[in-house]
Order: sequence, then C-alpha cells, then structure tokens
Amino acid sequence: MSLFGTMPGISGSIEVVCGPMFSGKTEELIRRVKRAQIARQKVQIFKPAIDNRYHETEVVSHSSLSMEATPVNSSVEILQRVFDSTRVVAIDEVQFFDDNITIVVEKLARRGIRVIMAGLDQDFMGKPFGPMASLLAIADSVNKIHAICTVCGAPATKTFRKDPKNSSQVLVGETDLYEARCRAHADFFGEDQDQLAFFVNLNESRSKSQNL
Ligand code: ADP
Ligand code: MG
Repeated sequence: MSLFGTMPGISGSIEVVCGPMFSGKTEELIRRVKRAQIARQKVQIFKPAIDNRYHETEVVSHSSLSMEATPVNSSVEILQRVFDSTRVVAIDEVQFFDDNITIVVEKLARRGIRVIMAGLDQDFMGKPFGPMASLLAIADSVNKIHAICTVCGAPATKTFRKDPKNSSQVLVGETDLYEARCRAHADFFGEDQDQLAFFVNLNESRSKSQNL
C-alpha cells in the first residue's frame, strides 16, 4: 500500500448505511460509488460470496440497479484484493462477514481509504446482525434508512421472515421469504410482550398474597 494514508491531513473514513431489507441500502451504496467515480476516484466493490441471489459478480438492488463487484469468502480476502491505487472501498451485505471485518475496515481507513458499507442492522428476530453492532460503533458516519411496511405503509425498520419456523440467522432469500415491516407489525415482539405480561401478573399475585 502507498504512503497515502500516512500523509498529514489526509485520512480515510468509515461509513455505514443500514436498515431492513428493501430500505434502499444497495441503491444508496451505488449512488455513493457513482459520485466517487464522477470524481475520478478508483473504487472497488466487494460482496460476500454467500449472497448470490441475483448475480455472482454484481451488487443488484431491488429496483434493478447493478454494479460489478468482487465476491469474497472472508473479510481478510478484501485486504488482499485492494489495490494500492484504490481510494474507495464499497462493501454490500456487510452483515454476512466474520467479526474480523471491523479490523479490516479500520486498516483500510488508516491507509486513507474511504470505506462505504451497506448492511442489515437487525436479523429477522430484531437482534443485531453479525458484526453490525461493532461496525456501527466504529463508523464515522451512520445512516439508518427505512423501507415501507407491507402491512400499513408506515416507515419500516424491521425485516420480517414469513416462515419463522426456520430459525437460522442466515437464510438468504427475497420477497419469497422476507417482508419489510414497521415495529407494530413485526410480531416477533409478541413473545417478549407475553413474557412481560407474565412477570407483571406474577408481581401482582405476589403483592396480593403479601396483603393477606
Ligand atoms: P436493500 O439493499 O436495502 O434491500 P434495495 O436498494 O435493493 O434495498 O432496494 C430498494 C428498492 O426496493 C426501493 O427503491 C423500491 O423500489 C423497492 N421496494 C420493494 N419493496 C419495498 C418496500 N416494502 N419498501 C420500500 N421499497 C421497496
Ligand atoms: Mg441490498
């Protein structure tokens, strides 16, 4: 890698675009990449090889925008494949990478590279997806964007799995498997509500028995 990253006053950056499926993360990644290309900056785009829903070597949005991308099997492979002349590294579906992705993007930023990532902040249970919580913490800039709830049309922050019987965090799919939902219509919170009701009832019956 060149001395670029060590020059005073020139530093890289870490940007994360996150949200549920269908919120426009890939569209936003492509928009930022296009602008960098207009500025004649060399850009490389990476994606996890596991995500081959539309294409092996392209990132593709649900509105059919696409760009060439290099599929990689691990986060370290990104480091190995970045050229000295690259100024911008874009990574789509970053939630699928291993935990070393935080070290990799920190290294790239230290070399003066602008790193743009797009990924699901939450899995289908509303829990932090893979390395996303750490990436959001170390990022210089975070944009959390919304889809449209398929039930009521409100801004959607959740990805709802239509068949919750399959409980593995990683299940690559599309509208066949997933829908964007607002908090009210992502009923995986039903279970938490039931538990909460159980504890409230328990406390109430305890205090009643103490009053006897
Ligand atoms: P992401 O990468 O976040 O999954 P994309 O950038 O691939 O999203 O696609 C965003 C596009 O998906 C929107 O511009 C719109 O055309 C389409 N779309 C399909 N379903 C929805 C939805 N429920 N809410 C918002 N956009 C949707
Ligand atoms: Mg996408």
